[in-house]
Amino acid sequence: MPNPLFDIIARQIHQHGPMNLGEYMSLCLGHPQYGYYMTRDPLGAGGDFTTSPEISQMFGELIGAWIADAWDRLGRPSPFALVECGPGRGTLMEDALRATRSVPGFHDAMRLHLIEMSPVLKKAQEVRLNRYGPVWIKGVEGLPTDTPVILVGNEFLDALPIRQVRWNKGWFETTIGLAHNDTLGEGMVVAPQTLLDIVPPHILLQQSGEVFEVSPILNQFIRQLSNILKKQKGAALFIDYGHAISALGNTFQAVRSHRFESPFENPGESDLTAHVDFENVGHVAAGEGVFTTKVIPQGAFLKTLGIEIRAQALKATATPEQVSQIDSSLGRLTQDDQMGRLFKVIALCHDEISLAGF
Ligand code: SAH
Repeated sequence: MPNPLFDIIARQIHQHGPMNLGEYMSLCLGHPQYGYYMTRDPLGAGGDFTTSPEISQMFGELIGAWIADAWDRLGRPSPFALVECGPGRGTLMEDALRATRSVPGFHDAMRLHLIEMSPVLKKAQEVRLNRYGPVWIKGVEGLPTDTPVILVGNEFLDALPIRQVRWNKGWFETTIGLAHNDTLGEGMVVAPQTLLDIVPPHILLQQSGEVFEVSPILNQFIRQLSNILKKQKGAALFIDYGHAISALGNTFQAVRSHRFESPFENPGESDLTAHVDFENVGHVAAGEGVFTTKVIPQGAFLKTLGIEIRAQALKATATPEQVSQIDSSLGRLTQDDQMGRLFKVIALCHDEISLAGF
């Protein structure tokens, strides 16, 4: 099948030589015309992948409770910017805002900001969230500069482009080039020092032939956000798949129609992500002087926030069919062999305020 993005990438490689994974991932996800997020709604059973808020309303409701609690602990600022990064179909925020309806003063104080690159998903967000008067912005630099901020992001950080380095009698960086038969394939160039500068020293010392993943874009995002939190006060919550401790390993992956495939096969047609290095997220934020919680598994986080009690309450008025659906979603979100352990949670705050769930 003809793939216009493949042609664009191939031409670019012909002209300028192999590109790094970050450039490749940015083009595949964000090319203005053919990028994955520009052309489709990837979520749900008929799409490519399903996220926690799409599995059950309980997820967004509990995040709503977390947000309201954080707002309370921040001293109930009014106004404050409520921000979601990569809101998908707007489901999490819709559930969160329904769940916080009865928190006195919360909705009046809240100014909703959505950071979204996909025109298709923005439309879906409009339908669900327009009554809350959202403002769409490109990044945290678009936030008001004079109000506290509470920010959440579920499966956002994993979409930020990564790069890979590995030791092979010297440090090399993974590149994407063209093989003889005109397919995309991996190669290596000498790694630039700027990239090695963001690899943890103990990883450098290992000089392993296995890849290590870094994301200058993610680091830059966390630094910018941390500075906003410090200056304007506030808290941020990130939930994603990834590891609590920085570790070697290739986690660059492509998912299409709920199946893994090669990230190099159908550029722009599959969702490209990498596991989030949560230790790095905490390290970068702490480097900017921001308080970070420990990194905990999603299952533990949701249980501490009361997901089992919420499930009981929903089941009390549910049909038998709904009861089994609630039980199965509860299992998917919290069990170790499902999303309970692979998914991790971290929060950042301008100060050492105790935040719910940790
Ligand atoms: N949070 C949602 C959707 C997760 S999918 C959920 O849990 O269902 C990733 C989301 O991040 C999508 O909305 C995608 O369009 C958005 N996104 C990915 N990279 C982005 C970027 N660089 N800037 C803004 N939004 C981005």
